[in-house]
Amino acid sequence: MPSERFTGLAAVLDAVRHDPGITQPALTERVGLGRSVVAQRVAELESAGLLAPDGLGPSTGGRAPRRLRLRAEAGYVLAVDIATNELLVALADLAGNILETRHEESDLGDGPEAVIAAVERMGDALLDGANARNNLWAVGVGMPGPVAYDDGVATAMPTMPDWDRFPARARLTTRWAAPIWLDHRVNLSALGERRVNPVAAASRHTIYLGGGEALAASVVVDGRIYRGARGLAGEIGHIPVHGAGDAPCRCGKVGCLEAVAGRSALVRDGRLLAETGQSPALAAVLARTGMIRPADITQAADAEDPAARALLHRSARLLGDSLATLVSVFNPDLVILGGGMARAQAHLLAAIRESIYRRALPAATQQLIIEPSAVDMEIAGVIGAVQFAVDGILSAENLARWLDHRSPAGRPDVADVQRLAATA
Ligand SMILES: [Zn+2]
Repeated sequence: MPSERFTGLAAVLDAVRHDPGITQPALTERVGLGRSVVAQRVAELESAGLLAPDGLGPSTGGRAPRRLRLRAEAGYVLAVDIATNELLVALADLAGNILETRHEESDLGDGPEAVIAAVERMGDALLDGANARNNLWAVGVGMPGPVAYDDGVATAMPTMPDWDRFPARARLTTRWAAPIWLDHRVNLSALGERRVNPVAAASRHTIYLGGGEALAASVVVDGRIYRGARGLAGEIGHIPVHGAGDAPCRCGKVGCLEAVAGRSALVRDGRLLAETGQSPALAAVLARTGMIRPADITQAADAEDPAARALLHRSARLLGDSLATLVSVFNPDLVILGGGMARAQAHLLAAIRESIYRRALPAATQQLIIEPSAVDMEIAGVIGAVQFAVDGILSAENLARWLDHRSPAGRPDVADVQRLAATA
């Protein structure tokens, strides 16, 4: 357990991070410690270079109160989002402002060695471009599947055989000499949503559906991400669904949600509609481009193509049925549809809502909000990854490990990095 001193320091930092420019009296009220204790913690954080004054607030009679902000410029954070077909790496400051990004196409099938090597190359380029290599404080990494949270390796997933036990954290720690925080990318997208979208930030219990190649949900219980024993909570892509028949799934089973409503399934079924001529709009796309992408199906549906509409409607119904199960189990106040779903929202949202209302307990849906993501799906993951990594280094437990014995550059001491990351 961290001492009262570090609990207080972390509480002050947390309040300032969530309310930049907060006045010292408001901060004292928020943190709920005595005025002199808060003043002492603020002074300590100012001399440590973590907090800075930010002008004066409105006076309520006496002297105008000081405003405070996190010294975002004190250090850098790298954020990584590893999706099935693409990589996004971002350089950010400590407040989570994204300064620069790099994007590359990628293929998870090339294996972790090749993918992590690309991540390292992209991260190096960002660090060198900003001359930030010696002031990197932390790295947040969104992994393409579940993470065994306690030891920082990917959980065995039949869909990603080579990634099982690949020591991504140890590898990146060695490369960048900074603490590394790993999580399933869907959890980081959910964190990004909570940071940017006020509706998500206000929610205590949220189900966030991510939809890239892999369908997975992030489950937020009482304001915290619920991961389960092996990081597999919310893996709805591989729950069997009614009406899926024996569609083969890439996990080796049949009839999974992902096999009938995932991105690949959508492309497969859209292609079939094009080849058989059931969808004239998609047939035209296939003839012109030689392929069908999910966005083509959305466009065909927008253009009133009945077969494309029926296909999206069926996917939405199946997604909604599975989400209804999560709604019944977790009783959330908010369901957010992230990923590609947000793009096709006009076609999907109504059908997903209808399924959830039909299948879940009426009392569970009475005040349930179901909304598309308010965050640009490309960057939700890296926004969340920065937040996750900074939450990590500024937690009471971890401040106690590094704040008093930081390296001369001011960042978390490299000697503490391994211990720090091993308990993240
Ligand atoms: Zn499956």
